[in-house]
Amino acid sequence: MSIPVNFETEKIASLNPRSGEAIGEFIPTETAELPEILRKARTAFDDWSSFSLKTRIELFKKAYREFYANKDSIARLISQETGKPLGEAYSSEILPVLDCFKYYLANIKKFLATQDITPFNPLFKLRRGYVRYEPIGVVAVISPWNYPFLLAMQHIIPAMLVGNVVIHKPSEYTTLTGLKIREIFDRAYLPKSVLSVVTGFAEVGRALVESDLDKIFFTGSTSVGQKIYESAARNLTPVNMELGGNDAMIVLPDADLERATSAAVWGAFNNCGQACVSVERLYVHESIMDVFVRRLVEKAGRITFANESCEGEVACPVNEMQFKKIKLLVEEAVENGAVVRLGGRPASEAGKLYFEPTVLTNVHSSMHVFKQEIFGPVVLVMPFLTDDEAVFMANDSQFGLSASVWTRNLRKGRALAERIEAGAVLINDLESHVVQFEAPYTGYKKSGLGVSHGPWGIAELVRTKYVNMDRPLLGGLLSLVSRNLATKKVWWFRYSEKHASDFVAFADFLHADSIWKRVAASLRALRALFRSDYL
Ligand code: NAD
Repeated sequence: MSIPVNFETEKIASLNPRSGEAIGEFIPTETAELPEILRKARTAFDDWSSFSLKTRIELFKKAYREFYANKDSIARLISQETGKPLGEAYSSEILPVLDCFKYYLANIKKFLATQDITPFNPLFKLRRGYVRYEPIGVVAVISPWNYPFLLAMQHIIPAMLVGNVVIHKPSEYTTLTGLKIREIFDRAYLPKSVLSVVTGFAEVGRALVESDLDKIFFTGSTSVGQKIYESAARNLTPVNMELGGNDAMIVLPDADLERATSAAVWGAFNNCGQACVSVERLYVHESIMDVFVRRLVEKAGRITFANESCEGEVACPVNEMQFKKIKLLVEEAVENGAVVRLGGRPASEAGKLYFEPTVLTNVHSSMHVFKQEIFGPVVLVMPFLTDDEAVFMANDSQFGLSASVWTRNLRKGRALAERIEAGAVLINDLESHVVQFEAPYTGYKKSGLGVSHGPWGIAELVRTKYVNMDRPLLGGLLSLVSRNLATKKVWWFRYSEKHASDFVAFADFLHADSIWKRVAASLRALRALFRSDYL
């Protein structure tokens, strides 16, 4: 199912992947329109960034209330545009976005508060400094289709709250959700052009990242991320990237199997496996492999397909391209010796794009299904013997987004978690960290660049400025003793042999390894402070 374009009206239809029916249309942005959109965004930035933080907070409180009031229509639209069950639209998008508003509204003053800097070197003690945080300017937020509301809003909210303006490019598959975000901010009277939406296919995104932007927040595939990084480098535009994953779940022999199997089924198949943090590689200790797989298959076998009602757990992939990719990966794995323990084929009785929840064993690391991000309802289960082997296997991936370790022994769980190359490792849980805005969210290796959420994410949305100045009172007192000492710096011109030896004295006084040498240097250092041969 490709996206239909009406060449007469030049509109693009957004489709419901479950039924294939169009749920609405949108007009794609022409790349020629971008310079004007950028110009308006820059003008809006001048105003918006000059508003006090208090004013922006007040406006955002209104927006928060509007989003809450419209939660049902947003959830329905997300469910229709992505195909995900309505319950998942609420649990993994609506609730986290409302949390995101509340979290930043409660903490933004603290995150943006100026910080006093105490000089470390005694030669700087006559001055004082502070750090202030300033908005960056025009920020592009480019988002994917799998969580079209959450993955856009988690960047849009903090970016605008700190005083930036945003140009949002939603996925071509979920544009109506992107437009809905703008519509609801309009209802909260957000000034025009503080948030602009550009719509369309990859070429609009490409033209956007080639524009004069101050920061790019990209969430999407690693391959597109690499292209954006290259393009951004030409303008030295800083980027933050949340990219693909191929998450490992390690189950140790002492794990609570009931809990771990329920988690694995959800972790592998929620959102039809189309989460960057989906469980794709399940490593189970050999001693419990048989019983674990039996329980897993039994639970996964009870999953039903989601439809337009609220019933059912697993929907279909978002589009035909995804569906074909999943089918091909599974077929190739089976041809090369993988064993299908459950599913393994399209579920045409449920709908055109549906694929059965699939459990594969006998998988090896040369298979594409192992190396690539599957992004579908497929999980691979592999045995391990020792902890070292489990860690090695978990790290045997180009990705490093997140992982989980399942054990009743927290000490052991922590020891393993700390050896896994991933931005987050959860012990006896999975995926929930993605919506904890108080915790850093990042990917190792080809899973990302930079950090989102909490103070770490805010640091990526602001410029950090250091302001440094005299201490007038101290300066006044010192000038009674020596005007040069109070107003000039010992490292200023004029240079001489004495000037060089003065700095040897400071180095000896501050860093010599013997206390006697330091004491001996203190007098020379003190004398050096009173030099008078300035230009
Ligand atoms: P995608 O990379 O195909 O597209 C993402 C966005 O980029 C879309 O809006 C698309 O129109 C735009 N785009 C495409 N080509 C572009 C280009 N050359 N320049 C600028 N923009 C361009 O990703 P997708 O298929 O929408 O989403 C699925 C991918 O996203 C998966 O790989 C998944 O792992 C990843 N993802 C990662 C996270 C995370 O937090 N790390 C979260 C969700 C999804």
